[in-house]
Amino acid sequence: MTTWPQSDWLAARAAASPDALAVIDADESAGSDADAGDGADARWTYADLDAATDAVARSLAARGVGPGDHVGTLLDTGLPFVLVVHALDRLGAVLVPLNVRHTPGELARACDKADVTTLLCDADTESSASEAAERCDEAPDVVPIDAIAPADPSLDATGPDATQPDADAGSLPTVERSPADVRVVLFTSGTTGEPKAVPLTAGNLLASAVASAFRLGVAPDDRWLCCLPMYHMGGLAPVLRSTLYGTTVVLQSEFDAERTPTVARERGVTGVSLVPTMLQRILDRDAAPDLPDTLRFVLLGGAPAGADLIADCERRDVPVHPTFGMTETASQVATATPREAFEHEGTVGRPLFGTTVTVVDEDGDPLPAGETGELVVDGPTVTPGYYGDSAATEASFGAHGLHTGDVGYRDDGGRLWVLNRRDDRIVTGGENVDPGEVVGALREHPKIRDAAVVGLDDAEWGERVAALVVPERDADEGANAASVALDADAVREHCRERLAGYKLPRTVTFADELPRTASGTVDRERVRAALRGAE
Ligand code: ATP
Ligand code: MG
Repeated sequence: MTTWPQSDWLAARAAASPDALAVIDADESAGSDADAGDGADARWTYADLDAATDAVARSLAARGVGPGDHVGTLLDTGLPFVLVVHALDRLGAVLVPLNVRHTPGELARACDKADVTTLLCDADTESSASEAAERCDEAPDVVPIDAIAPADPSLDATGPDATQPDADAGSLPTVERSPADVRVVLFTSGTTGEPKAVPLTAGNLLASAVASAFRLGVAPDDRWLCCLPMYHMGGLAPVLRSTLYGTTVVLQSEFDAERTPTVARERGVTGVSLVPTMLQRILDRDAAPDLPDTLRFVLLGGAPAGADLIADCERRDVPVHPTFGMTETASQVATATPREAFEHEGTVGRPLFGTTVTVVDEDGDPLPAGETGELVVDGPTVTPGYYGDSAATEASFGAHGLHTGDVGYRDDGGRLWVLNRRDDRIVTGGENVDPGEVVGALREHPKIRDAAVVGLDDAEWGERVAALVVPERDADEGANAASVALDADAVREHCRERLAGYKLPRTVTFADELPRTASGTVDRERVRAALRGAE
């Protein structure tokens, strides 16, 4: 395998454009007023970031972290996380971002699965990190981030503090780099079961950055707002890509339907990655959203975007790019332009540069345009296989690439539609029911805002169709009043006009929101639990 003579990505970037703005930390504004605007932010150039990264890398090296070591993080989106991403690259170590919302038990399983030997935490996550470490088969070293990174980067907005903890400790190893090196082991969202550990190589991440740039373009003044968790691909990608592009990433640790548009406006943001529920919440606010004039793209992925949401975007001129992606492909597989999204309802657009998507039947044979089957992805962004799980790898890779478990089709123009997951199919009395079709019928009801449809065990039919329905919020009456007017019989009656009898939801329950994973997909286990609990 070819080696890459150059240094790590950040060092190369800092050498090329040291004075370019690398990071604006919107959480680190003066007086912690995140809406204070540009002037008060902590802002780091690539030269600043490079120097601070060097200190963090030395400090980690002094604690024994070296090439190939797996370092877990229990951190939210923010500057310390960014420093760790680059410092581990500098050391040739592997980043294993963990979900801060997980329980110590879940974290321990993740650490064991991904062979984590050092676990970085902050004040909020220290106790769960320690508890998780105790439960691991081999306890990783728990290291508070304050010990290796500046405790409060905003104290020195002009650059890193050279006297930070451990700054002089340790020397850096010489690292040989190859595109095949694993840089990150990232966990899937766990929508269909226990999260899977996905190694992504430097080559995967580079190919993903290039392919994304082909579709979205890169402008010298780009500022990509990252308000998704960096322990998912959608949050990590803008940080890695901005380094390669020499552009700026704006960090906001937590999405907020009120504050995020303000942050975007005041920092002149040009792009943002969101999951559909977030965009919906922004557009649902009473006041029309003031998105920045500078905004070039809203990358919208992780879960299906409803037709109403896309129609809203068209009405309000939101440059929305519906996207199909996954952890295993280092994010985007296919991305639509706004025009495609508005003209071809429900599409996620064409596959990205270098990526192929084949629609296959149950035997794995390719299907022609217009026919529905499983989406199989191949290309330079696809993971080499699940970490430490050759059985899962073997089960997922076939002649045409990675079997995604997602069901969809393409049109003659090569545009893709994602309908549902293969495992979501409900079999009731021997008939197959596509939950997506039932959700579509439910959403046509003017008083239904959203719905999730699953199969529940049924003694007579094997499974029965069950729907968790979110009523439209009625400004005058409130959600509860709306759900009173919209009872289970009315829902079934509405469906009866649109669906065959066996597809009708026999169990119907109402909720204010659908339970979702951190990356925005409907958490089907919790939907099932809610439906069972209501019986
Ligand atoms: P797990 O693999 O652990 O079950 P997950 O698949 O939800 O979890 P991610 O890798 O975060 O974990 O999510 C990728 C999945 O999200 C895709 O396989 C697909 O099912 C869904 N998804 C992403 N974008 C879209 C989209 N635009 N439309 C429909 N589904 C999407
Ligand atoms: Mg998955």
